[in-house]
Amino acid sequence: HAAGTNPQANPERMKEHLAFTKGRVFTRFPPEPNGFLHIGHAKAIATNFGYAAYYQGECYLRFDDTNPEAEDEKYSKSIEEIVSWLGFEPYKITWSSDYFNELYELAEKLILKGLAYVCFCTPEQVRAHRGIKEDGLPGGERTACEHRSQTPEKALELFREMRDGKYSKGEATLRMKQDLQNPNPQMWDLVAYRVLNSEHHRTGSQWKIYPTYDFTHCLVDSMENVSHSLCTLEFRMSRESYEWLCDAVDVYRPAQREFGRLNLQGSIMSKRKLLQLVEGNHVRGWDDPRLFTLVALRRRGIPPGAILSFINELGVTTTTTTIESVRFDTSVRKYLEHSVPRLMMVVDPIKVVIKNLPEDYYEEIAIPFMPGKDVGEYKVPFTKTIYIDRSDFVKEADSSFFRLALNQPVGLLRVKNVISAVDAKYDSNSNLVEITAEYDTEGKLGKPKTYIQWVAESTGNGKIQSPVVVDEVREFRQLFKSDNPSGNPNGFLADIDENSERVFKNAMIDVGFYEVKSRSPWKVEAQTKEERVLEGRDTKGSPESVRFQGLRVGYFCMDKDSTDNKLVLNQIVSLKEDKQK
Ligand code: ATP
Ligand code: MG
Ligand code: MG
Repeated sequence: HAAGTNPQANPERMKEHLAFTKGRVFTRFPPEPNGFLHIGHAKAIATNFGYAAYYQGECYLRFDDTNPEAEDEKYSKSIEEIVSWLGFEPYKITWSSDYFNELYELAEKLILKGLAYVCFCTPEQVRAHRGIKEDGLPGGERTACEHRSQTPEKALELFREMRDGKYSKGEATLRMKQDLQNPNPQMWDLVAYRVLNSEHHRTGSQWKIYPTYDFTHCLVDSMENVSHSLCTLEFRMSRESYEWLCDAVDVYRPAQREFGRLNLQGSIMSKRKLLQLVEGNHVRGWDDPRLFTLVALRRRGIPPGAILSFINELGVTTTTTTIESVRFDTSVRKYLEHSVPRLMMVVDPIKVVIKNLPEDYYEEIAIPFMPGKDVGEYKVPFTKTIYIDRSDFVKEADSSFFRLALNQPVGLLRVKNVISAVDAKYDSNSNLVEITAEYDTEGKLGKPKTYIQWVAESTGNGKIQSPVVVDEVREFRQLFKSDNPSGNPNGFLADIDENSERVFKNAMIDVGFYEVKSRSPWKVEAQTKEERVLEGRDTKGSPESVRFQGLRVGYFCMDKDSTDNKLVLNQIVSLKEDKQK
């Protein structure tokens, strides 16, 4: 790795740095606590924490809190939780604001070196000096403003006036004296400090001036002895000013390196747009399972390890990648396939009475949680009244329909017995209400074309009470009708698919659910080294960690709306296999 290879303006600084790190890699994940993290951030988290871990190094979680107007503790709390949920442990949790005093001192140092000045230009004037033309494009002549020639003493005096509250918001800024003739716009005298008369959630009313990202980030990286400052590609041009400032104030200079952003097709990541979705009640909140915030993915039941393994599959690219959401689903499915138990679930049940079984027929059948894996089994009852899914029956089967019909028997999963339908009752609206069936104990019906899931009804002393009744099953598909909601001419809200959430109120699952619930988060022996690494950290007792595959239906988890008396399930992803077979 490249620790210690960044050429330093002052080699002494590198020695001091190495004395601290002992050559270990130090990285940081630096979110601004002004919103909830999304799937793209997971890549930044995995990159920073993963890179450090790979080299037995350390990674800070640093809240970059230099915009007090937009920031809130509820965001930093959520970010901390998500990092831990993904399985990472910060070396330290720090805040840019922890360093406001040191940063202020460095600003004075920069001024005294003649490398910063207090500027009173309006934004329009700044643009004009930067050679930005009426059409908003750069290319005009770049010129120094009158303030740039301040003496260091004058600049210091004015800066202290800024600090002491003499100027109101927007009136004065401290600007770095960089290089106006440099082709890189990130060198055109960036703002280092601005006046903001707002309270800071950590430093209260202590400061009236706040440092900018451009001033703060590199210097805090330096103070924390970060060896590799990994950031997204849009900061590529900022690398020059990052290095310029560290050298200008003569501190250790970390190595900034860039990686590509991750975007998911058909998802909205912008905080402003997410807020519109939430405040307009278009979704169930920031954690609505159809969103791609990490709190939403967690609520939807996506295991933390599945997110890590998805990012791992994509690799750390240096270009921005826009991934189709089906690729994400495929990756999650693959992860769930080997890690969650299986249950029988009937989402839209229809009663089947088995005519040739006695009224009180009761048999217990052992079912493995995961066939082929040594993770135990559970018992379900088999009785005269069972339920199957409404979609698994038609009156008359044609050649493409393999399941139950009056002219076609079907097998019952896990018991391998076959039933044939002898009658179907409909109500006055021609809705199917009940099926009468016969149970084949002698193999007379032969091998069925396929097997379907079922649950049995049973009550009474000493018997397994079955089935588990689900109050709500929520099934989701993409929130937006198109893959590019922002491209909708009527705005992205017009692109919302009103049927993207479907609710089923009568679903049933087999009684294996109770053990699945008490044993969650489900632990399956990791097969490979990657699987072990990519486990994440489910919280014991959290609803979303209760996950299972509903055979032939999809993957589900418990939703946080569940209570002791109410069971709500979310569909995590559908099953890949075509349900119609
Ligand atoms: P915004 O500009 O909307 O506030 P941000 O990207 O600046 O969003 P931060 O909280 O500053 O959000 O991000 C923290 C870190 O996560 C940064 O290093 C940033 O580069 C990285 N990051 C943000 N979005 C993505 C993404 N889509 N893919 C990869 N990394 C990302
Ligand atoms: Mg941000
Ligand atoms: Mg940012």
